[in-house]
Amino acid sequence: MRLILLGAPGAGKGTQSKRLVEEYGIPQVSTGDILRKAVKDKTACGLMAKSFMDKGELVTDDVVIGIIEERLVDEDCSEGFILDGFPRTVKQADALEKTLDEMSQNIEHVVSLNVDKEQLLKRLSGRRICKKCGAGYHVEYNKPATDDICDDCGGELYQRDDDKEDTILERLKIYTDQTSPLINYYNDKGLLLSVDGTGSESDIYDRIKATFEDS
Ligand code: AMP
Repeated sequence: MRLILLGAPGAGKGTQSKRLVEEYGIPQVSTGDILRKAVKDKTACGLMAKSFMDKGELVTDDVVIGIIEERLVDEDCSEGFILDGFPRTVKQADALEKTLDEMSQNIEHVVSLNVDKEQLLKRLSGRRICKKCGAGYHVEYNKPATDDICDDCGGELYQRDDDKEDTILERLKIYTDQTSPLINYYNDKGLLLSVDGTGSESDIYDRIKATFEDS
């Protein structure tokens, strides 16, 4: 299965990707995670990307397209993958189609997770992540047993720099301006599955699975 999860920051792409990974045994490919690791490791790509990420802006198309082209040829992607956070512009979507064409592959479904702005703001501003294992929490909806400590591994929880309010607003604006045109782009190709992204994680997951079965 080759799948794209499309949605605004905070729509639940990462959370739902993890469930799909467990069920289908294919990798989650998150450009955000790859870039955050590059920033942490202080690679040339990471150093370049950091200033964009800190401001909530998109890293340049050529850089993220290069990252994806390298990642999709890895052995673990041969049976399928879940793209989380890529593509984010029409240029990236065109480049993805070309890359997959060259590999005689194609995207089967594009799941668009729909969540209103007020809910997105609440989700992003309360989001906390474990420094050690990357597990996700929320200060209101998914609290750890002990404040700021990961239930799974005891690691310290932190708030992503780009989950601070000003940056969140910028990221949502960029989503509207640059990424949301992909909804029509994939709808026109007959690939779009539109899913209500509100409610419990498992309800949303059930809806995603139901749309696969109906399509
Ligand atoms: P995410 O974890 O998907 O919210 O991504 C965090 C940040 O990484 C974004 O705000 C961008 O700065 C950068 N980023 C991730 N994916 C992309 C992409 N496909 N195109 C451009 N920038 C990206």
